[in-house]
Amino acid sequence: MEARFAMRSILESHVPAPAVSYCYDLWERYQFDFVASRPRRTRLGDFTAQPSRRERITVNVNLNPYNFLVTYLHEVAHLEVYRHYKRRQPPHGNAWKTHFRGLLIPVMNEANFPLSVLTPLLDYAKNPTASTGTHLPLMQALKTIDAPQTDLVMVSQLPEGQIFRLNQKVFVRGTQRRTRIVCVEKVSQKKYLVAAHAWVEKL
Ligand SMILES: [Zn+2]
Repeated sequence: MEARFAMRSILESHVPAPAVSYCYDLWERYQFDFVASRPRRTRLGDFTAQPSRRERITVNVNLNPYNFLVTYLHEVAHLEVYRHYKRRQPPHGNAWKTHFRGLLIPVMNEANFPLSVLTPLLDYAKNPTASTGTHLPLMQALKTIDAPQTDLVMVSQLPEGQIFRLNQKVFVRGTQRRTRIVCVEKVSQKKYLVAAHAWVEKL
């Protein structure tokens, strides 16, 4: 009983309100251990299966509700694949993509996501990859929601030639190469590749 209450309250504080029951029902159906984890830089969540133990899903506690929900369903999709297929499947292969998409469909609507996130999410869900970070429009939409209310802007939003500060250094914004932007550090004149979604201080 206590675990149920705890799970519901975790979900209530981390996923959009209309999705709480849906996420809770998945947890009840599959009976996995769930941990809202301390933030990890290298991943947003994970799924672990060990023989003779309950499967475990973790999601970083600091994610915004939209990213938390998508990450939660990403990991539940791993669990579904693990349960459905005896043979090992590639971690983010077709089986996982199908299950993940199936899990996303009931929540991909305006009740759960602002349009700014929903639009790129619908596109991402057509052929989901291991990380939302590889889908630039979705990544940017999620980052915009996380943006602190200061003068920070995403480096991709600056015009070429604009000067900005990042990690106490001053750079000139150059041209974009795929998901990164070539920037020149003012003092050393060295070129750096800065992630297009990095938050910088416009000078
Ligand atoms: Zn994964």
